[in-house]
Amino acid sequence: MSDLATRNTEGDIGRLSRRDFIKLGAAVGAAAGTLSLGSRRLMAMEQKLGSDDISAVTGAQRQSVPYTCLVCNIEDGGVAFVENGRIVKLEGNMDHPNTRGKLCAKGNSGFLHVYDPDRIMTPLLRTGKRGEGKWKRISYDEATSLLAKKLREVIDRAQSESDDAILNEIVFKWGRNRTGGAVHRFMQALGSNAMINHTNICESSKKVGLEHSWGPDIESCDWANTKYIINFGSNVLETAYFMNPNAQRLVDGVVGNKAKLVSFDVRLSNTSAFADEAYFPYPGTDGVIALAMAHVIMNEGLYDAAFIRDWTNVTVEQLIAHLKPYTPEFAEQESTVPARDIRRIAREFATTKPATTFSYRGPAKHVYGAYQEAAIHMLNVITGNVEKKGGYCLPRGMDWPQPQPEQPRGKTPSVLAASPLYPLASHQVSTHVPYMIMKGEAKVSVWMHLYDNPVYTYPSSHVWAHLFKDEGLLPFVVSFSPYISETTELADLIIPDVTYLERHDPESMPSGLYPCLSIRQPVVKPLGGT
Ligand code: SF4
Repeated sequence: MSDLATRNTEGDIGRLSRRDFIKLGAAVGAAAGTLSLGSRRLMAMEQKLGSDDISAVTGAQRQSVPYTCLVCNIEDGGVAFVENGRIVKLEGNMDHPNTRGKLCAKGNSGFLHVYDPDRIMTPLLRTGKRGEGKWKRISYDEATSLLAKKLREVIDRAQSESDDAILNEIVFKWGRNRTGGAVHRFMQALGSNAMINHTNICESSKKVGLEHSWGPDIESCDWANTKYIINFGSNVLETAYFMNPNAQRLVDGVVGNKAKLVSFDVRLSNTSAFADEAYFPYPGTDGVIALAMAHVIMNEGLYDAAFIRDWTNVTVEQLIAHLKPYTPEFAEQESTVPARDIRRIAREFATTKPATTFSYRGPAKHVYGAYQEAAIHMLNVITGNVEKKGGYCLPRGMDWPQPQPEQPRGKTPSVLAASPLYPLASHQVSTHVPYMIMKGEAKVSVWMHLYDNPVYTYPSSHVWAHLFKDEGLLPFVVSFSPYISETTELADLIIPDVTYLERHDPESMPSGLYPCLSIRQPVVKPLGGT
């Protein structure tokens, strides 16, 4: 065989002898071996649910286990890769209809929850002053016996005094309660109604804005099939509720379906930066912009008369009269958005079908959030875009049934859970809880909290800190947190919960147009004694 011409990395022509060629052949063989292993490793990136897989980094065999995320409340579907009993990587589950194989950055790093070096691995009993940071390790048996004794004391007193209201001295407060009803069943078994959620510092304005118009508390847009989207204050591409599934569908709609995206937000969010048109109104003026658009749509006859007739309890004339003061010029004064743009966008929205608005969770968190949400919602109603392909759709939620028979609720309402100060409130007003206890309007004997850190996250957090430090107001505080937090460090007893990657929960979230039920299953065994 004659010598071959070759080119080195500097581009110089060289000569290759037969001996060199044989050496090169061996090198190519080795490279092919590497390539073959590389292919296997690449295959490892494809998720074969429930099967073995190969780590792309170490080449070791690893197991892929489907799970349901809980780093936030969206409940995306993920796949955990477990190597030698340790989670090494999380990815989105390709088979989840709404997640479609993608997790957000927080979801991808969720396994750090399991291996957090500050994780509490055993029950702790306070030994110093409250908040002093002095603890004694105790067993789970000791911890649960102590809690049971404290609960028993309240129940015995309620029985001896024949007063069911005493049972409400047992309080359970949570931030994120995804226990499939276990907390409610536990409290109902104890006879207490003092179950307190965090909704009023979260999304009750959204709920109130929508529940009184169409029933459900959120919208689920058919982004992928729409032609026109008005975003009011939501940063859906980065952080909004149901961000992961919605962001994917929004991109499908804008890029794949050539939908126009108009965004109103007080700042240049990632979503506004992606929009065809972005406006920066004064905070809390989204509602008046929506009312002005509705004013234009109704006065110019661009509404869907049949939808208004068939699905609402108002007439076109009533709507026109109601919207009369909300001219685009008035909205410009309030918001700074030019009246001519409000008019043009209103016309485009009403005449481009299908179309939808999205507002989760921008305006709801400003003043008069419930009214702003209702005004934005109305744009979809008067243009007949509700529950249409490419429109503004009902959320597809599903419920896991509770085990039967259900425990009856406690006999006496709790003033902490249903404040008499707000008799018409359809959601709890938890921000008043510390004040009511401090004013003596509610007595607490045992306070339990789960996924909750009001001493850090609530408005007037110093008031919550004052409450938790006062042993006269809260004589016995139990935290189920797996980590020390500003609130947990003020507990008397810590019974650490497992993380979301170590436990079972039934789940269902309306995170897209496909209704789905899912199960959170342990990816690894709970660490330590948890
Ligand atoms: S958006 Fe999805 S992946 Fe991200 S934290 Fe929430 S549930 Fe997990």
